[in-house]
Amino acid sequence: MRWFRRPSPEYINLTHPETRAARDRIPKDLWNKCANCDAIVLKKDFEASLAVCPSCGRHERIPAHTRIQQLTDPGTFQEMNAGLVATDPLEFEDKRKYAEHLEATRKKTGLNDALVMGRARMADMPVSLAVMDFFFMGGSMGSVLGEKVARTMELSLAERIPCITVTSTGGARMQEGILSLMQMAKTSILCAKMQEERIPFISVLADPSTAGVMASFASLGDVIIAEPGAYVGFAGKRVIEQTIKQPLPPHFQTSEFQREHGFVDMVVHRKELRRTLVRILAMLTGQPSPVLPEDKNGAAEEVPIEVKST
Ligand SMILES: [Zn+2]
Repeated sequence: MRWFRRPSPEYINLTHPETRAARDRIPKDLWNKCANCDAIVLKKDFEASLAVCPSCGRHERIPAHTRIQQLTDPGTFQEMNAGLVATDPLEFEDKRKYAEHLEATRKKTGLNDALVMGRARMADMPVSLAVMDFFFMGGSMGSVLGEKVARTMELSLAERIPCITVTSTGGARMQEGILSLMQMAKTSILCAKMQEERIPFISVLADPSTAGVMASFASLGDVIIAEPGAYVGFAGKRVIEQTIKQPLPPHFQTSEFQREHGFVDMVVHRKELRRTLVRILAMLTGQPSPVLPEDKNGAAEEVPIEVKST
């Protein structure tokens, strides 16, 4: 009797036609592979864990509508200004025409620009909400995105309701040149107005939150919350290293680094984000901390809100 035998070629040859055919029969959208730890998780389990890797805790980027669903009371979100569409005033062209790039991205994502805004309720408290979508041209801030952020803040000012923004962006949209940079001033002025009018403004930083957006409204929240491991900063690490000619620490420009240095108030796991926002909203609007419907089954565990004083 042979104890060891060579496995038949079908089992080891990954390029064998039968193996390839078997692999192709597995639906592509059945599982998710973590880009950090390579853990493979069934898509439905991954979605149930709010797109956070159950193995290493990596917070995957999520589309704006998924984020809104995770944060707001079911059925309360009313989208506004969804029809705003960018024009191409500079007739910009690099590898392809900006207008064509926009059109293709619109078709791919089903969105008109990289931000979804509107009003919603969280634990029955009214809020205005602006959520960025990184899958639309890297969440870049052009004139439409800036205008939508401004309108979100104007809604808060008009109705005296708190404002929440969730950013996930590479910064200003280069294809719109100076017009996209002007959005920094426009949104920052409205942040100052909200402060004058004592309207609470919470800024949530998801991966990545950088450049022109970070240098304007995203860093001007009364409370700034970041998701674990998110890339948060202005310029890229490599650019800074080359400029100052010094090595930087490995976790430079992560949420955790920014929290240690007082730029971010809290780093909150995605599964705690809604609950944390609700408690802060209640605190800032002088209401008792509400019990969320999902916590009524005894799942609630009080996580202390710890804000680092700066
Ligand atoms: Zn992982």
